[in-house]
Amino acid sequence: MKSANINTDEFRDHLSNVTDTGKRIWIYPRIVKGQLYKLRTYFSWLLLGLLFGIPFIEVDGNPLFLFNVLERKFIFFGVTFFPQDFHLVAFGLLTFIVFIILFTVIFGRVWCGWACPQTIFMEMLFRKIEVWIEGDYKAQKRLDEAPWTTEKILKKTAKHIIFFIISFLIANTFLAYIIGKHDLLAIMTDNPLNHITGLVSIVIFTFVFYFVFAKFRELVCIVVCPYGRLQGVLLDKKSIIVAYDFIRGEPRGKLKKETKDDRNPLAELQALTKPVENKGHCIDCSICVQVCPTGIDIRNGTQLECIGCTACIDACDEVMEKVKQPKGLIRYASLDGIEKSEKLSFNLRIGAYTAVLTLLLGILGYLLLTRNEVETTLLRTPGLTYQEEKGGGVSNLYNIEILNKSRESMPVSIRVVDYPSAVVKLIGKPLQLTKGEITKGSFFIVIPKKDMENPNLKLKVELISGNEVIDQVKTSFLGPME
Ligand code: SF4
Ligand code: SF4
Repeated sequence: MKSANINTDEFRDHLSNVTDTGKRIWIYPRIVKGQLYKLRTYFSWLLLGLLFGIPFIEVDGNPLFLFNVLERKFIFFGVTFFPQDFHLVAFGLLTFIVFIILFTVIFGRVWCGWACPQTIFMEMLFRKIEVWIEGDYKAQKRLDEAPWTTEKILKKTAKHIIFFIISFLIANTFLAYIIGKHDLLAIMTDNPLNHITGLVSIVIFTFVFYFVFAKFRELVCIVVCPYGRLQGVLLDKKSIIVAYDFIRGEPRGKLKKETKDDRNPLAELQALTKPVENKGHCIDCSICVQVCPTGIDIRNGTQLECIGCTACIDACDEVMEKVKQPKGLIRYASLDGIEKSEKLSFNLRIGAYTAVLTLLLGILGYLLLTRNEVETTLLRTPGLTYQEEKGGGVSNLYNIEILNKSRESMPVSIRVVDYPSAVVKLIGKPLQLTKGEITKGSFFIVIPKKDMENPNLKLKVELISGNEVIDQVKTSFLGPME
């Protein structure tokens, strides 16, 4: 993709937070509280509430969501999925992948900046706590470089204890998504010796989350996240991204008056009315770089490290306001739009891709809503043929397995369709389906010999609960050759 950088693409050869010798450069992002930051903050409260609250919501005694990979039990929106629903899971995954691709092609990294748990936790929780305890970006840097005084020990200890407690809460929530709130509460309240695996998992998750948010930070997005790595192939010149308007901004020009007090460059900017003559609107104040949590300069063009957090938009808007220029030098735009000086609008491409996304979601929704709540496997007992009974009937023995995917337990009876004279004789107690479980049983079907048109009948068998047919299966019925 074309870079806005006029001179060089050298920045693409190395990561923004690593020195030439491979040493990590710790990033101290400056916090700018603009319009988008406010919106993101409100949105993050909603998401954090959902993230921490969802594992504790139940629908008819079932969790709203459960991803129990160990027991292969999955619940989405209160609907339980079993290994037998593999086709739905496969289609769901396929839809998800296509959705991600199309969504990214149109809207770039909106997900990363606004909704990804990594960004939400890092920027809206851990970062805020860090600023609250250690002060702004410059105070943090000073504290890190200062010798170990009582103040530094107190601040660092307080910060890391709070980080650890939040990591512990996240670990518990994460586990609740896997095993459900009841099992999680059992781990907390029961004899620890009965829940060694659960406790070890909590400890491991806690340390992993603590490490990620206290130390690893932006490297998750830059180095680890596969979605981030895919951006290079998913984005094109029409994708909506956080972009610097290089047509308007270049050639960038320094302020007329350099500030001595670089602790507050915005205060100095207020004295200025417009950028240097014959220059673009970018006054090269580098505040957009200072606020970037991944340490990049958005003026270099689209970069893998940009998580679309919009901090640079807020920062530059604030600068443009001070220098009395229109806002939006950095904004949501496509590269094509910037090159042609076009405003972002809902075009045919966005419409077509959105229609495909809606269609896919519609099909998935239809499949989910029309999913059969009962799944039956009916087999003639292996190794047996037929038996002739005294009263002139022929009987076959069957084994039945019924998976009840619904949220209710129910009694069930069995009926043979098309053969009114056929009788079903259950072996043992009447069948009672337990919710979420497989019920097994055996029964004979007896058909009068005179009603057998051929020695291998094809039967349709219905399962009935109340007055409702809940499933229908086909089977064969063997009889004598006559
Ligand atoms: S904040 Fe705006 S004006 Fe300042 S360097 Fe960045 S793009 Fe240029
Ligand atoms: S370049 Fe701007 S949008 Fe991208 S990560 Fe940095 S601050 Fe956020």
